[in-house]
Amino acid sequence: MKSKQIAFLGLGNMGRPMALNLARAGHSLIVYDIMEAAVQQTLEEAKKETTLSIKSAKSPHEAVCEAEVVITMLPSSPHVKELYLGSGKLIDSVKDATLLIDCSTIAPDTAKEVASEAKKRRALLMADAPVSGGTAGAAAGTLTFIVGADAQTFDLAKPILEKMGKNIFHAGTNGMGQVAKICNNMLLAIHMIGTAEALSLGKSFGMDPKILSEIMSKSSGRNWSLELYNPHPGIMENVPSSRAYQGGFAVDLMAKDLGLSQEASASSRSSTPLGALATQLYRLHSAQGSGKLDFSSIIELFGKKLG
Ligand code: NAD
Repeated sequence: MKSKQIAFLGLGNMGRPMALNLARAGHSLIVYDIMEAAVQQTLEEAKKETTLSIKSAKSPHEAVCEAEVVITMLPSSPHVKELYLGSGKLIDSVKDATLLIDCSTIAPDTAKEVASEAKKRRALLMADAPVSGGTAGAAAGTLTFIVGADAQTFDLAKPILEKMGKNIFHAGTNGMGQVAKICNNMLLAIHMIGTAEALSLGKSFGMDPKILSEIMSKSSGRNWSLELYNPHPGIMENVPSSRAYQGGFAVDLMAKDLGLSQEASASSRSSTPLGALATQLYRLHSAQGSGKLDFSSIIELFGKKLG
């Protein structure tokens, strides 16, 4: 694939390693973040590898005005809507025929609205492409991308996404990438809470959580949280529970995704009772001061014995 001029906006826990992988694949990057420290960290990391072509822009306009592809990785719906359609109107700064890919996890309705405005006003191609796989997947270039776009846009986006991920799914039209992502994260929250609850119950009887994890991993309770992202400290290396829940996927971001699941559930008149409970538990955990910790820290809610 020919090297492309790519603008990458949003250099947080996920965006920074994703941008570096695109540069490693030979693309020329121009990066932007509202936090100067995030830009500096990206440039510092790029400097360690002499062959990478990454420079920074002082504004979203400067980042995107010459780009062939624009990728955004922002926290939530209001950030995405403001950047693309708000006062700075990114969709007015890009060249015609620019491919826009938003990888943030946001509301399906916002993804549809931004794509429709981009198409209506400038005939731009836009995809929502939220990811699964966490910061480790972003660093290793093994993310799963879940794309909502028309077939032509998907075909154009796929070779670029393949430089940052291993599995690239076409979920359907604009917004469907977000629908699939929200369903996945609602399920993830539910099995993380269930896993934390089961390990805490075993521990309250004096059972070794490592032995209990081994037993459940070979029994019908096995699941991703238990086997690959165990929430109990000291069971697995290289997961947030073994580094005081630092890094990883923040409780506040999980609470945001669960909020999106409940908005989606209300708007489609679906019943998602476990999703509703998971939303409340993550909000409670955040309100108790754990918003910036990894989402597996939810086990701390269940650690204490009652009365
Ligand atoms: P983060 O908070 O670490 O990074 C977001 C970055 O966006 C920050 O550096 C922030 O300064 C920047 N930003 C905000 N507004 C901006 C703007 N207008 N222009 C440019 N930059 C702007 O978040 P993250 O963990 O990287 O997550 C990003 C998205 O990916 C979220 O939607 C999250 O739900 C999703 N996600 C995260 C993970 C994970 O494990 N962290 C996994 C899958 C999906």
